[in-house]
Amino acid sequence: MSDDKMKMPKFSDIQYTRPSVEAFRECAMSTRLKLMAARDPDVAENAIMTFQREMSAFDTAFTLCMIRHDLDTSDSFWNDEMDFFDEHYPVVSELSAGVYAALLHSEIRPQLEERFGTMIFKKTQNQRDIVSSEVLDELSEESSLETEYSQILSEADILFKGKHQTLSTMTPFLESTDRETRKKAHKAVSDYYLSNKPKFDEIYDKMVKIRTTISKKLGYKDFVELGYKRMERYDYDPEKVSVFRDNVVKYIVPITSEIRRLQKNRLGVDKLFYYDLPCLFLHGNPVPNIPQSDYFSTGCQMFGKMFSKDPSFFQVLGEHDFMDLFSRQNKATGGYCASLLDYGIPYILMNANSTADDVATMVHESGHAYAALRSIDSSQFIECLSPTLEACEIHSTAMEYLTYPYMEMFFGNHADAYREQHMTLALLFLPYGCLVDEYQHVVYSHPEMTPEERHAAWRELEKKYQPDIDYDGDPFYEPGGAWMKKEHIFTSPFYYIDYCLAQVCALQIWDISRKNRKKAMTIYEHLCAAGGTKTLIDLVESAGLESPFSVDVMKKLAYQVCDYLNL
Ligand code: ZN
Repeated sequence: MSDDKMKMPKFSDIQYTRPSVEAFRECAMSTRLKLMAARDPDVAENAIMTFQREMSAFDTAFTLCMIRHDLDTSDSFWNDEMDFFDEHYPVVSELSAGVYAALLHSEIRPQLEERFGTMIFKKTQNQRDIVSSEVLDELSEESSLETEYSQILSEADILFKGKHQTLSTMTPFLESTDRETRKKAHKAVSDYYLSNKPKFDEIYDKMVKIRTTISKKLGYKDFVELGYKRMERYDYDPEKVSVFRDNVVKYIVPITSEIRRLQKNRLGVDKLFYYDLPCLFLHGNPVPNIPQSDYFSTGCQMFGKMFSKDPSFFQVLGEHDFMDLFSRQNKATGGYCASLLDYGIPYILMNANSTADDVATMVHESGHAYAALRSIDSSQFIECLSPTLEACEIHSTAMEYLTYPYMEMFFGNHADAYREQHMTLALLFLPYGCLVDEYQHVVYSHPEMTPEERHAAWRELEKKYQPDIDYDGDPFYEPGGAWMKKEHIFTSPFYYIDYCLAQVCALQIWDISRKNRKKAMTIYEHLCAAGGTKTLIDLVESAGLESPFSVDVMKKLAYQVCDYLNL
């Protein structure tokens, strides 16, 4: 909400009109022509900025529609509008690609690079590297396989304790403090996956093959190369990521073994089996000691103190209805933060349900929202307002750590337990994230592997990253089935390591904040304000952090975290 933006509207007052694809096409065509002919950078800039406004309007309409749809998934008006966007977004993307091709091939490109910075050119080139008209059929086949997989998962019907459950409503039972209950719950989930294993194997096998075909047609050695391009990895490659994973194995995995040993003692069991792992505390995980109806006012107080601003960004967003925090019927599940570009305002949607996760999610999404607000003037290109995905996750994950000192406001005298749990989960996540990542490198480097060979490969990798896991002879997990539970492996290939890289950067901010709160906040502000104007490593280094690939960083963090958790 910078001063030059219009007076902030209420979310409910924002008018929605379906954008015109024809008007978009006209604008794209004329921009393209102007860029091709332009010999004067001012003319080119004018043309591209007009097109940027058209794109921003289209994107704003889409985001508005998506949010209103998610707030009431039963409303047929928004369902129809979503169908409109599903149908027309590919056309709009293709038209944009045409405009950017003209920008790339402009005769005055050097002058334009000087004026706009190189990032938009990098992004544009990357976009051209990952699609071509030759692979459109394969791309639609890939996306229909993804839809098929998601459809099967959403229809999961698990009979548990005489009631029909979905995979997400099973979660509380999986974490139950009653060992028999959680054992049975895990068995029920394992049975579900075992009975669907042939179907999932078939879908994944087709996905691996089609992604490999797309890669070859585009001139890549394999899908690893294309996958990195799709994830916009401008300044690191598979070698660097492999070293990162080795660092995790060397410095983090031993700590997770100690965490599991202490967990076993805490739960008072002879042996820790896979179904015990989600239950960290004997009496259950800490929950907020304030009612849901106080989350917002407490959040306002917390962020007000933290940023010494009254009202805080959080309060302003909430008072203008740019958030919807609580779970209810006919509201989409999950949580996200999405920006309405024309207004420069982010929207937070989540589903609080009185668990510890509520606070972590609220803070996480607020981190995304804060970054969106801080970076609003960082670039004239909407494509460069937010960075690549790993860097976005630093904004949100670091916010989870920076709010540690305020957790008494939500958890009272259970705040220590909350922080301990949060940090423990962060540590346990690192090896798991690396496992998911290395598995995909293995799979896509050897697309000829059979489903059985893939399961065996996963089981081998599990022993490296999760040496303490004991499946108690479970017929689904023991032969290496656990990867099937991770949706990202099917629908967002190579995404997962992003969370690990972000975690290591966020932990650096946490570490600094313990000794020098002011310095940590300065780094955080810098990182958020830079938006997407730089690539990951440039971004973190210019903010004053070290590269997440540094072995020294991993060693130092391992030491600091052990100190914090008294390990
Ligand atoms: Zn996030």
